[in-house]
Amino acid sequence: MNSSDATDSTEVRWARVRGRLRSEVGEAAFKSWLKPLTLRQVDGDVVRLSVATRFMRDWVASHYGDRLRELWREEDGKIGSIEIAVGDPLAGRDSGSAEPTRARASEQAAPDKSPRETAPSSTASLDGPISESLGRDIGAPLDPRFTFENFVVGKPNEMAHAAALRVADATSLPFNPLFLYGGVGLGKTHLMHAIAHRISTRKPDKRVIYLSAEKFMYRFVRAMRYKDTMSFKEQFRAVDFLMIDDIQFFSGKDSTQEEFFHTFNALVDENRQVVISADKPPFDLQRMEERLRSRLGWGVVADIHPTTYELRLSILQSKADQLRVDIPPKVLEFLAHKISSNVRELEGALNRIVAHSELIGREITLENTQELLHDLLRASDRHITIDEIQKRVAEHFNIRLSDMHSPRRARAVARPRQVAMYLAKQLTTRSLPEIGRKFGGRDHTTVMHAVKRIDQLRATDAGFAEDIDLLRRMVEG
Ligand code: ADP
Ligand code: MG
Repeated sequence: MNSSDATDSTEVRWARVRGRLRSEVGEAAFKSWLKPLTLRQVDGDVVRLSVATRFMRDWVASHYGDRLRELWREEDGKIGSIEIAVGDPLAGRDSGSAEPTRARASEQAAPDKSPRETAPSSTASLDGPISESLGRDIGAPLDPRFTFENFVVGKPNEMAHAAALRVADATSLPFNPLFLYGGVGLGKTHLMHAIAHRISTRKPDKRVIYLSAEKFMYRFVRAMRYKDTMSFKEQFRAVDFLMIDDIQFFSGKDSTQEEFFHTFNALVDENRQVVISADKPPFDLQRMEERLRSRLGWGVVADIHPTTYELRLSILQSKADQLRVDIPPKVLEFLAHKISSNVRELEGALNRIVAHSELIGREITLENTQELLHDLLRASDRHITIDEIQKRVAEHFNIRLSDMHSPRRARAVARPRQVAMYLAKQLTTRSLPEIGRKFGGRDHTTVMHAVKRIDQLRATDAGFAEDIDLLRRMVEG
């Protein structure tokens, strides 16, 4: 039924979708996961893609399914879902249509104004059913893999783990709230889902709601828009366990904070358990109302520290067992040694080598692991600091290091300072305000301006651009 003249524009659209994904996810992830996708056809409102293995399909569907669908929909408003089949695209159209698996993304084709909630993106795999949270109407789905059984305990997280377990198992409230905090990818969400899973199997009559702070706000704003705040309040205040993830998201969002504060108080007053996570301890949460901050710290505040080598190794071993693949101990040790940032990246690296070996049918060795992950490893090999950048740049332009922090605005020092800010933005993961602070307590808008200015200069002055690239390579070492 496809008219052949539509084929061309479909290809062009696909190229654009891929191009955008590529710039969004980066070259490495693109190569590993998205490049191997083949477009088979667009059939009415369904985009049919294929990929070589089941593992790849599941990964792509769960990590990029939503985004693929959104991007396609921007290209073509009538697209409702994406299907990814497993199989050789060259073997002809029939082979893949036998058992295509509809990407999870297709379940969420809710139009904008629909009263139905669109599920948030979750990392749940396509195979296992996403277990429903008890608060089906207002909560978010739980990832079936995020259980206590799958959580590896070590020194950095033992306290948070013990507190979470206590909350899940206690018969009366041990403390309220439980406040979990730690850097990204260290297991906060995992522990919260674990609490919810455990309660839903052991105390099925209890109502547990888990959702992200972002979603809480979204629901609140929508309730206001539809003048339905009463039922919003009632829903939240009728739960036994309320878990809100990544509450730093509330920073500066005053009316949401206010509403959350009331919900929170109402629940605590009625002896319902509240569990909160954030990337910082309560007193460090910026742009958060004082009374809320102090109230958040009333129960137990448990932090998850960065991982240690031992913990990383145990996590890798446990994940390899779960994936039922044999990975030489040397490879696991290598990964645990090299990828120290967080557990999510560690998992990502492991998944990548497993997928790759499945794809090309070769066993996993230290050599091919090093080769496959070299981009990732280079980045995590060295953590470039702002201090180093400032030192290098000051040397290069022959100014004093103290001028990086000084208020002097003469061009001779201001431009090098801008260059250093620019490199700090490019080469570290620091935020604009953090960078500003390192440059004598400057405002984040100053840093933003510097980044823009240097970008402009680079674009118009080839000599300058070369100079910056040279500096960059020197700093990268
Ligand atoms: P956060 O919410 O702190 O950013 P997540 O809970 O999403 O981090 O964890 C990131 C990934 O790392 C998840 O896939 C999670 O299962 C895994 N993970 C983190 N800590 C552990 C652990 N101790 N044992 C097993 N898996 C872990
Ligand atoms: Mg999280």
